[in-house]
Amino acid sequence: MNYKSVRGMEDILPGDTRIWRWLEDAARKTFEFYGYEEIRTPILEETPIFSRSIGETSDIVKKEMYTFKDKKGRPLSLRPEGTAPIVRAYIEHGLHKISPELKLYYIGPMFRSERPQKGRSRQFHQIGVEVFGARPSFDAELIAELEGMLKTFGLTDFTVKINTLGCEKDKSEFSEKLKKYLELKKNRLCEDCKDRIKRNVLRVLDCKKESCMGVVREAPDILDSLCPQCKDDFDKLKNNLEALKIGFKESRNLVRGLDYYTGTVFEVTHPLLGSQDAIGAGGRYDKLVKDFGGPDIPAIGYALGIERLLIALRKETPPYQGAVIYIATLGDKAKIKCVQITEKIKKELLGRVIVLTDPRGASLKSQMRSADKNNAKLVLILGENELEKGKIVIRDMATKEQAEIGIDNVADEIGRRIILESEKLKAKSEKL
Ligand SMILES: [Zn+2]
Ligand SMILES: [Zn+2]
Repeated sequence: MNYKSVRGMEDILPGDTRIWRWLEDAARKTFEFYGYEEIRTPILEETPIFSRSIGETSDIVKKEMYTFKDKKGRPLSLRPEGTAPIVRAYIEHGLHKISPELKLYYIGPMFRSERPQKGRSRQFHQIGVEVFGARPSFDAELIAELEGMLKTFGLTDFTVKINTLGCEKDKSEFSEKLKKYLELKKNRLCEDCKDRIKRNVLRVLDCKKESCMGVVREAPDILDSLCPQCKDDFDKLKNNLEALKIGFKESRNLVRGLDYYTGTVFEVTHPLLGSQDAIGAGGRYDKLVKDFGGPDIPAIGYALGIERLLIALRKETPPYQGAVIYIATLGDKAKIKCVQITEKIKKELLGRVIVLTDPRGASLKSQMRSADKNNAKLVLILGENELEKGKIVIRDMATKEQAEIGIDNVADEIGRRIILESEKLKAKSEKL
C-alpha cells in the first residue's frame, strides 16, 4: 500500500520546520512588543459562522470550504480564515468586558479547497491579528506595525496597496451603481464575472481577465459614493501613512472577496511571487461584532500567508537560521573534550548556532564530508595533538581558511565570527 498525503495538504519536513519556527518566533516577539495577546481557536466551527460573515455567495463559502455533517447532522466547516472564529470567541467569552480595546494575534492552519498551485495549498497557514475597538484613526498605525514586522523578517521588496469600501451604506450604494453599469456591459465580461454581478459584484473589479479589466477601467469609482465621514477617514489614512513615510499605492481594484469588510482595505504584494502575488491582506470590519450578536464595536485585522512569506523571503535573502558549527574529533579524549566545548558554546550562544558532532566515530575525512553536507559555516577540529597544546583548529568552510585558537576561547571566537556574518547580512538587506 502506498499512502500519500491528501492532495493540497503538505508535510512540513525537517529543515523547513526550523525556518517556519524562526518566522513564527519573530512574529510572536513583534506582536508581543506591540501589546498583542495570542488567541487559539479550534480549526472546526459551525458552518454559519463563516457563511453569514464571509457571505453565502462568496467564492470561499460557495466553492472552497471543507464542510461536512457531524454524527448529529450539524454542518461543520474547517476554518477557511481566522477572523470569524475570533469574533465568535470574542463575544462568547465576553472579552469586550475585560477591556474596551483588545489586540489579538493568531498563528495556525486554514483550509480552502482551491486548485493547488505554488504558494497555495489546501491546508495553508496564516499569521494574523485582530484589533477590537480600533477606530479608523488607528489604521495607519496597524499598517505601520505590519510593515515593521515584514522588515523584521528581512523582507524589503513589497508593496502596500490600500483602498476603501466605505461604510455599509456607501458600500451597498456603490454595489448597486456598479451592478447597473456592469449589466450594460455584460457581454464583454468573462463567465465568472457574469455570475459575480449578482452574487459578489465587487469581485468583478479584481478580475485579471483582459476584457473584464477593460470594462472595469470605465466603471464607477467608489470614491464618488463615499459619505463625508468615510471620505475624511480615507484622506486621513493617506496623510498618516505619508507622515509615517510608509510607501503605498492606491488601488481601486482592491476589494477583498469577503462580505464583512467595510472602510479601509489593504493588501501587501511581492513582485517575486508571480500571479499569486499577495503575501497578506486585511481591512476593517466595523459591523461584524454586532452582526454576531455582540456590542457595537469596530475592528480591523489582517492575515499573512506563511507559505507565501517564505517563498518571498527565500527569493530575496535566505532567512538567517543560525549558523551550523561542526565539531570534528579524533580519539576518545577529544570526544570528551568535545562534549565540554559543546556545553560551553551552548551557554554563550544558545539560539544563535547549531552544534553538530559525529555520532559514528567516523574518520576525519568522513566527518568533514558530513560538515559540508550540513552546510556548516565553521568546523572545529580537535585531535590528540591539539589537545596536548590546549588548542583547537577552526576552519571557515566558505573561505577554507584555518587557524589554531585556544580551546578556552572557542565560544568567543565563534560568537565574534557569527556576529560579523549576521551584520554583513543585515547590511546587505538594508542596501536592497
Ligand atoms: Zn460612509
Ligand atoms: Zn472577469
